[in-house]
Amino acid sequence: MRLTFSKLDTYSKCPLRFRLRYQEKLPETPRRGRNLSLILHQTLESFLFQARRDSSLETLLRAYEIRCAPPQTPEQERRYQEGRRALEAFHWREGQRLASAVALEQSFSVRVGGLEITGRLDCALETEAGLELMDFKFTSQVPPNPDLLQLQLYALGLHEVTGATPDTLTYYYLRQEQRILFPGGQAAIQAGKEQAARIAEQLQGDGSFSPQTGSWCHTCSYQRYCSAQREKPDPVPQRLVQARLPL
Ligand code: SF4
Repeated sequence: MRLTFSKLDTYSKCPLRFRLRYQEKLPETPRRGRNLSLILHQTLESFLFQARRDSSLETLLRAYEIRCAPPQTPEQERRYQEGRRALEAFHWREGQRLASAVALEQSFSVRVGGLEITGRLDCALETEAGLELMDFKFTSQVPPNPDLLQLQLYALGLHEVTGATPDTLTYYYLRQEQRILFPGGQAAIQAGKEQAARIAEQLQGDGSFSPQTGSWCHTCSYQRYCSAQREKPDPVPQRLVQARLPL
């Protein structure tokens, strides 16, 4: 079985959402702010690739400018400024350390028993305190108890690809200018492997894919098909059959 963090996370929160998204392949409603999040990720990626040579704020903002279509409405202008402010604050806090970025956008594939975990990590920084694995977030709120599994699996991936074990695991919340740190090391990697294996085992034995409500429901695109949300949910549409092409 081949799974990403996103699939493991979706299943562990709500099996029905997992089924609709990954098995039935029903499209999700685009979320507000998704493009800005994507632009910021791409901006940081291209900037960090060259940060050893040039880690100036001007270069970071230039990388942002070339990825943003010019704002056409007051709402787009607001988003544009919000992204710019987040990058300026990030640079102000982290500027000194950016030149030490390694393992940028590193893809990985790791076997854990019969499970293959794939993913792509944002970056790691070589610091005086050791290697720090960092994942960028652009969520509207910082969760009160961030789930460590993503960082633990990315630490596993980093170890698989480079042989190095991160000493610190960090979520960097760009909007809130908040950096939340967790201890790394082999213990974190082992905990991630065990949790991923547990979730995969439940998924393999699941015959019902029941809905599981929680704080994640407000971002769910499938409420109309969900018996936990509606007394009479809509039937799940049949998957479109791919038309045969003439030779
Ligand atoms: S609305 Fe909530 S419970 Fe229903 S499918 Fe979506 S995430 Fe699951």
